Amino acid sequence: MIGSRHEECGVFGIFDREGRKIAPLMYYGLFALQHRGQESCGIAINNDGWIRCRKNMGLVSEVFTHDVIDSLEGTIAIGHVRYSTTGASVLANTQPLVTQYVKGTLSLAHNGNLTNAITLRKALEEEGAFFQTTVDSEIVAYLVARERTRTPSVEAAVEKTMERIQGGYALLVMSPKKLIAARDPYGFKPLCMGRIGKSYVFASETCALDAVGAKFERDVEPGEIIVCDDEGIRSIRTHCRGICKMCIFEYIYFARPDSYIDGKSVYEARLQAGRLLARQHPVDADVVIGVPESGLDAASGFGEEAGLPVVRGFMKNTYVGRTFIKPAQDQRQEAVRIKLNPVSSAVRGKRVVLIDDSIVRGTTMANIVRMLREAGATEVHVRISSPPFISPCYYGTDVPSCDLLIACQHTIPEICEILGADSLGYLEVDSLGQLIGDTDHSFCDACFTGVYPNVDTGIDMMEETK
Ligand code: AMP
Repeated sequence: MIGSRHEECGVFGIFDREGRKIAPLMYYGLFALQHRGQESCGIAINNDGWIRCRKNMGLVSEVFTHDVIDSLEGTIAIGHVRYSTTGASVLANTQPLVTQYVKGTLSLAHNGNLTNAITLRKALEEEGAFFQTTVDSEIVAYLVARERTRTPSVEAAVEKTMERIQGGYALLVMSPKKLIAARDPYGFKPLCMGRIGKSYVFASETCALDAVGAKFERDVEPGEIIVCDDEGIRSIRTHCRGICKMCIFEYIYFARPDSYIDGKSVYEARLQAGRLLARQHPVDADVVIGVPESGLDAASGFGEEAGLPVVRGFMKNTYVGRTFIKPAQDQRQEAVRIKLNPVSSAVRGKRVVLIDDSIVRGTTMANIVRMLREAGATEVHVRISSPPFISPCYYGTDVPSCDLLIACQHTIPEICEILGADSLGYLEVDSLGQLIGDTDHSFCDACFTGVYPNVDTGIDMMEETK
């Protein structure tokens, strides 16, 4: 089974043209993207056509010690951080993927999810292909390598591959002489380009460009392929269709607030979500609390709009990974308790508005409401800075199938009761565009609406979740 539907990842790459040591930059770039994946990470580095790949399970700081970084020499590199909640969490599925083939070595790092992975893989296996991992990224690597034997350049091979793959992808491909960045024609996943002097840097988010001192140049356009080589950069736009269906949940939760995606500030989107929530679901209360870290910015927006003080209601132990990393439900509950502790003096005797970005299964929120009451809050009014999740994501964000989504199984009053809250309000789905000042729906909100942008081309992952 292809286990990659539940992956969320970050990619980072450098094409150096000025003789700097790039391994430390790769380290800092991936470190800045750690929030996008904490399960495994890797760097493939190209030293005059010789590729070394170092990857392992664990955080960037665990896998890449000083000695390892010191030992990595080269002028082009790509890196990856990976996070999967189900499916195979094993070394074989870590990235970058490195493939030897007739033209040399090809390395690939992928964020996103193919919607026709099962069909493609079956067809390729029937033609004799065999795969060593269960990630759909290997299908992309295989197709690029195969197309390269029939096309004049690796970029032409990527272009051909894009005719066959569907779904969400932000890709970095490294050949012996080139670095290629590509974004799917809907632009589901973010990918941007920056520069340090004459060298090029690509990253899932602008916060990683900042971390290495790179100047933001522009976002890779949906459908665009950017090729870097010794001559400079070129853009191939044959797959650009002038549409954008960037994942709105990146703004709500997934990306770092100091990042800009497609020119829009993630922080501003979250503040705006909080303001809108305050207008849509006003409540008499004494204080506003954001669930750290994901609810903090929306809480600021809510407090500003409602004229209520925003206080620190919880202390978060940042040394615990995301609760989602632990797959079993009982383990998740335990992890929530370890991770968050209420600041009782801030909430005792108070009517609290509690803000978080989303409710998936409801476990986290039910625990948090209970903790607040135990700490002495007299009322707890839950406000969620996204609409209810009602449909899974097939493009690479971990929104599970309907049977696991609380909003699929229950009405809002029922959820409120399950959470033990005094009231519950979600952001209205029609106001999502206002988070990023969008008027022509240039984002994907399928997890909140059940309307999938590429439904015309089919989503064979659906079978998997039925
Ligand atoms: P749950 O306990 O299942 O309701 O999970 C809700 C929590 O998970 C919220 O605090 C969210 O911040 C977080 N969350 C929501 N979506 C995701 C996601 N795709 N990946 C990781 N964490 C998420």
